[in-house]
Amino acid sequence: SVINRIDAVEGSTDAYLRVQPEQALAMAKIVDDKLKARKKISPLEGIPYGLKDNLCTKGILTTCASKMLYNFVPPYNAHVYNLLIEEGGILLGKTNMDEFAMGSSTENSAYKVTKNPWDLNKVPGGSSGGSAVAVASDTAYYSLGSDTGGSIRQPASFCGVVGMKPTYGLVSRYGLVAFASSLDQIGPFTKDVEDCALVLNAIVGHDEKDSTSLKLEKKDYTKNLKQGVKGLRIGVAQAFFGEGLQPEVRKSLEDAIAVYKILGAEIVDVSFQYLDYALSAYYLISSAEASSNLARYDGIRYGFRAEEYDGLVDLYRKTRSQGFGEEVKRRIMLGTHALSSGYYDAYYKKAMQVRTLIKEDFDQVFKSCDVLLTPTSPTTAFGIGEKTNNPLEMYLTDIYTVPVNIAGIPGISIPCGLDQAGMPIGMQLLGPALSEKALLKAAWAFE
Ligand code: GLN
Repeated sequence: SVINRIDAVEGSTDAYLRVQPEQALAMAKIVDDKLKARKKISPLEGIPYGLKDNLCTKGILTTCASKMLYNFVPPYNAHVYNLLIEEGGILLGKTNMDEFAMGSSTENSAYKVTKNPWDLNKVPGGSSGGSAVAVASDTAYYSLGSDTGGSIRQPASFCGVVGMKPTYGLVSRYGLVAFASSLDQIGPFTKDVEDCALVLNAIVGHDEKDSTSLKLEKKDYTKNLKQGVKGLRIGVAQAFFGEGLQPEVRKSLEDAIAVYKILGAEIVDVSFQYLDYALSAYYLISSAEASSNLARYDGIRYGFRAEEYDGLVDLYRKTRSQGFGEEVKRRIMLGTHALSSGYYDAYYKKAMQVRTLIKEDFDQVFKSCDVLLTPTSPTTAFGIGEKTNNPLEMYLTDIYTVPVNIAGIPGISIPCGLDQAGMPIGMQLLGPALSEKALLKAAWAFE
């Protein structure tokens, strides 16, 4: 039925870069036989899902929506993909994204523009827009994306689905094509909070191939999920309700706060000192790391290579000029500049100092509350093409999501209403490192 659904709606939404119906059906057959033999199956067994195209899949094209990797077939699997294979999941295909996960609208893909299923003239958000749309349009039961500065939570909010960025280090990044390694984290898109807990159960766990992977005991995120929020201290900070916040988003959040009060939560006012600097720090740090991570695309070992060139340096120059899109080049230039001698202290070092202050800000705030309630994005989904000529305006859509990656803490976005045009509004719940269970519990109670 999911394959029929893909046939029916993919033509208008373009969530996928590639689908593999035959392979999916063959996998389904195996699960079916198992069921007939009354063998025990795991919770995700036989459930069809989509993967963002920056997650490596052995033998299956993985392009990061870039011309640079137009022919890249990885010789290995991302750790999360291996885990889902073990679970018996059925991979339907690879989803569209902003090139190398740089963007907030999925318009930076080198191949296609994904449309928001709620209004095909609007963006789905990004960079994991394809993964969000697959779930929102019922062409996958769940999907995985990556979140460096909001790329799971913001598209989840724009498309009216649940999206979670786990604590940094909780999910192995092995086989996730790196954008900004100190910020990148893989997480799920689902229709509801319980599904989110189920997918998290499958993808969380230590992996020695990722040196930042945390060594922790396995948890069951579905356990105590439905216990309610009585006595939970929910923080609300003015810093997240500033200028540029769409009035309907503000109203929805106020309604959500009222709902939590009725459910027995305690609402507390909290304040931040340095949050205003988060966005600037994020774009410096993420671009600096990107400029280094993307240095590997040189046209020599794999991926795209320019056809005509005059010597080695010219090969590099032409390959990178022709292979990367505009936004990726902008980040490489920003990052290289921020890291260059003479500017390093003024930009990169300053940004890293701000990063520490923001972490401390969150530590302080979580002394007086258990979770923080914020909008996911200042606005609902905007029109396709509306912000493509104004990168700064595009960057501003991440203002409420990037502090979370800077601090390495978890965040979940869940639907909380519709604006007057009928577009979904998302609210974000944040908590200290490894507070996923509390976040899921709070999200489930509202849902
Ligand atoms: N939109 C942000 C950026 O362009 C975040 C991207 C992401 O989380 N991958 O950097």
